[in-house]
Amino acid sequence: MKKLTLNEASNVIGGVGFQWKCKTTGWESGWHLTYGGAAKFAYAHEQKYSGHKTVVFPV
Ligand SMILES: [Zn+2]
Repeated sequence: MKKLTLNEASNVIGGVGFQWKCKTTGWESGWHLTYGGAAKFAYAHEQKYSGHKTVVFPV
């Protein structure tokens, strides 16, 4: 099982939306209204690209 890093931003409150970023490639996603929405795409990315680590952050 892969170790997820999605909760790294969970203790950061603020902003009007969320993005997620692939820490492996430095790629940043588009804007998402909710943390859950961004996290869903981030998780899917980790599943698709084995070994990639993502983080969700407020913007
Ligand atoms: Zn990636």
